Amino acid sequence: MRTRLAISAATTVVTLAALLVVPAPAFAAPPQPGGPKPVRDGETYAERDAEAATDVLGGAAAQRAAAQAGTDAAAAQAGASTVLGQQWRERGYPRQQQLRVFPENPTDRAIKLGLLPYHAVAPKLNALQAASNRVSVEVIGQTSQGRDLYLVTVTAPERPDQSRQQDHWRRLIEDAPWLAARDQGLKRSYKTPVWINGNIHGDEYEGLDGQVRLIEKLASATDSNTATLLQRSRLYFTVTNNPDGRVAGTRANGNGFDINRDHATSSQPESRAIRDVAIATQPLVMLDEHGYTGTTLIEPSTAPHGQNYDYDLYIKHAYPDAIGMEQAIQRLGYPETAEAIIPFRDLVPGDWDDWPPIFTPMYSMYHGTIGHTVEVPLQVNGGAYNTLPVEELRRRSAINVDVVEATIRGAISYADTNRSQLIADQIELFRRGWAGEAQRQIPDGYVPGFGPEDRYTTTFPRAYVIPIGSGQRSDAAAARLVDHLIAHDVRVTRAVLPFWLDGRFYKAGSYVVNMHQPKRGLANAMLEAGRDLSTLVPQMYDISGWSHRLLWGASVDVVRGPTLPVISVPVSVARPTGSVPHFAGDLKLTLTSERDVRAVNALLDQGVPVRWLNSGAVVVPHANRSAAVTVAERYGVRFTLAPPGTAGTALERPVIAAAAASDELFTLRELGFEVLPVSTAVINAGFDFAGVDVLFVSAGLSYTGLNTAARARVDAFLATGGLVTRGATGARFNAAAGLLPVTAVQGRGDANGVVSLDNGTGPIGTGAMPNAFVFSPLWFTGIGAGVTVEQRYAAGNPLVAGHWLANDDGTGGPTQAGGQAAVVSGVAARGTAAVLFGTEPMFRNHPKGTFADVARAVLWTTTVA
Ligand SMILES: [Zn+2]
Repeated sequence: MRTRLAISAATTVVTLAALLVVPAPAFAAPPQPGGPKPVRDGETYAERDAEAATDVLGGAAAQRAAAQAGTDAAAAQAGASTVLGQQWRERGYPRQQQLRVFPENPTDRAIKLGLLPYHAVAPKLNALQAASNRVSVEVIGQTSQGRDLYLVTVTAPERPDQSRQQDHWRRLIEDAPWLAARDQGLKRSYKTPVWINGNIHGDEYEGLDGQVRLIEKLASATDSNTATLLQRSRLYFTVTNNPDGRVAGTRANGNGFDINRDHATSSQPESRAIRDVAIATQPLVMLDEHGYTGTTLIEPSTAPHGQNYDYDLYIKHAYPDAIGMEQAIQRLGYPETAEAIIPFRDLVPGDWDDWPPIFTPMYSMYHGTIGHTVEVPLQVNGGAYNTLPVEELRRRSAINVDVVEATIRGAISYADTNRSQLIADQIELFRRGWAGEAQRQIPDGYVPGFGPEDRYTTTFPRAYVIPIGSGQRSDAAAARLVDHLIAHDVRVTRAVLPFWLDGRFYKAGSYVVNMHQPKRGLANAMLEAGRDLSTLVPQMYDISGWSHRLLWGASVDVVRGPTLPVISVPVSVARPTGSVPHFAGDLKLTLTSERDVRAVNALLDQGVPVRWLNSGAVVVPHANRSAAVTVAERYGVRFTLAPPGTAGTALERPVIAAAAASDELFTLRELGFEVLPVSTAVINAGFDFAGVDVLFVSAGLSYTGLNTAARARVDAFLATGGLVTRGATGARFNAAAGLLPVTAVQGRGDANGVVSLDNGTGPIGTGAMPNAFVFSPLWFTGIGAGVTVEQRYAAGNPLVAGHWLANDDGTGGPTQAGGQAAVVSGVAARGTAAVLFGTEPMFRNHPKGTFADVARAVLWTTTVA
């Protein structure tokens, strides 16, 4: 208790002084030693959360905050941070533990390849820990199917005080780089952190095996070079980032998600674990080991380069590091490893870009790391797995394992050799962030091949403000965004007093993201709109638009200008947001954020007689006030008083039969709906629609592919049930079943990004966000009688950020979509209430602000008789 109070008090004093911001020139001078900068106390988020909440809010409020955090994906993450933080603060190395051993699984797909099945990993790591005091293993999380995720650390033993010193230096680099830059002890003795991640795609196997083999060698080597290396370095290995996928032979994890697309969203336990490792270890260099590209591929990437990087500090190391890795695989001597593809050197812009922070290395770059994807060459998954002879598969896998080991050795060697400059450049990255300095203009030829096509920079705003109360679309969404930013090591503060900024008034308690901070690049990558890249590169590798500010349902204001005259204190968890008015009367809840949806489904689950209003809101009777209070506290949602006499239509908790992609099934379930997966095959096999209220169609269901009996059952369902569709598959289902009279027009297939929308006044459009995410955007023309346009693409070019070109024949472009219907609703002649989405409201669980639109669609269709 004494410790806690002391820490809280000290933190408060320092930060209050720190954030009394003095007007400064646009690009302030670097912070001076001893200057007013908040230095974090180094505690884990979970601990800081508890303290802050207890300190500021008192125990009950703390519990409430914890309960609300617990409703989010945000919850598990804090747990993982605690594991790392707790152990790292109090313990030296080794930090060994007996890992639980998983039952032998003879169907593990790695066995056929002669590689380690997952169940053999824990015994192997247990043995390595027993054999060597250089090896430590920590469990950093569990997969959705309950398997353990391991972090193996290989380093020379450290006493606890030595580990504390290392951790102090690590934090100094981020928190006070101006001090780190002149710390002679740090320069001399900070152990070079290198991190290897493997097997993030479950059926790209050898990342695990190459790591384990290298760990074994490092553990048992008796030469002085290895001993010296481990005195100077900490080598971190997350040996398999996707055990569920490894066992099953799938790219995706147990929830059907590609973890290597989830790092900005953190919807999956595997990506949250990786996020916490990236933050806690702050590696100078990292590799993410994948396969299979025929020829080994080693990043750096092609343009477009993420515009929030300090790219000069990255490419100066990434390029020679890749060359070194290429030489390392060449030395293996296989014809298959005679060369490597380095996209930056060998491919053209757009082929293999590092634009979105959804890939592990790109995400890590924002934490100060020189990140590389490595693709081992020889395919052993997919069709090859089933068709090639076992001997050939094992020959290939053996070469791939060698490539993994060689690239890791190359990266470790680069990091060890260039340790001083890597440390200096990580310090410089965070120093620029604190100082709010502009990114550097990189000259042509800075590294071989660097040219104008590689030049991507941005102008950072001075701050982002996330208002509370009036001016905030959803306090629940705002709290979730704040918690997300904090979990990603973005510093967020809370205004102590009301303030005016850029002509806007903000209540005390509004959140401020001061962009003078070490990880401003990541903060901006999440909060900026992005950029329309359509005319800059012919294509992109994956998504090219996202934005937590525009897509996550909270109002966020951009503050430009040189000063930030706001008094604020650091935040470690968003304040609880739920409320119920004190006056008697029926209660109204508008479905604005996904937390509102979860609250409604929780009420329906309890049998509360919730009534639907066509404005996208629900009414809870006064008699059920206590249930409303409970969900307000649990989900942070805000009830208002319903005007006396507000009627509405009775709701029941809907059951959804969903022919949908994995991310949509996950999201619908996360929203609290009961979801039964279906497909053409499942319905043809006799799926019974009894008890189903709504059919959701976006993938894997073709009306014309149904057999006669199945079609009769679907038709019978459609006479009374609701239909919600997304995308071309959904629109085809609507047309084939003869439901809403509209014509769906498909935009270019690879187009994706953030678009602007104009909202109508129907049950989905009312109060919806003015932005959405699209992928293969769809729009509707020939709007027939009885169809309501819920949302339209903004007139002109609706693309805000991303990549959307017209097809070669001029069709399918954004200006064709401009002004057209994006989401429509109506009641078909045969009685079906239907909503068709041309946008991607649940894509990879990212655009959280549009989840409520889907829920509104589902609920509305159940209320139309
Ligand atoms: Zn991969």
